[in-house]
Amino acid sequence: MFDYEGEITHKMSSIFRILDPVVSLQEVPGEISLIFQITGCPHRCPGCHSPELWPSNGSRFDLERFTMEIERYRGLFTCVCFFGGEWLPGELLIYLNFARERGLKTCLYSGATEVHSSLYPALNYLKLGPWVEALGGLDKNTTNQVFLDLDKKSNLNYLFQRN
Ligand code: SF4
Repeated sequence: MFDYEGEITHKMSSIFRILDPVVSLQEVPGEISLIFQITGCPHRCPGCHSPELWPSNGSRFDLERFTMEIERYRGLFTCVCFFGGEWLPGELLIYLNFARERGLKTCLYSGATEVHSSLYPALNYLKLGPWVEALGGLDKNTTNQVFLDLDKKSNLNYLFQRN
């Protein structure tokens, strides 16, 4: 189980940093997603294909930046998708609620096996599970990862697995 309290205490004075946002059709079935990659990932999955997310790279992220990006891509996306950030659930919740209040869907891609309970009401979709090379990602039926539609309380892994 991930030690949120310890991590929160450790990073109490930290803020999110992000790589440049991108629009993608891949991550959330049926949605066009505006992806925010939060750097400083603490999960350290062996074989991680995004090691650039380990250090706190990128630019400072705050509500002003979030608003600017939402406006920049207005009409081009339906869902805000965060890669990481669950290690500071109180901070992530601010952005999730801000998006939902503006009629956007929300998704979190987490490398943890569970996330803080406060995040669930603010999420429409949730991907859980660390990367395990031998098991593969969501596109493999051997995967340890799950992609959940929290509104319908259903597992959507089958939509990633075309063969
Ligand atoms: S959660 Fe994702 S970014 Fe973080 S170590 Fe695991 S695979 Fe890499």
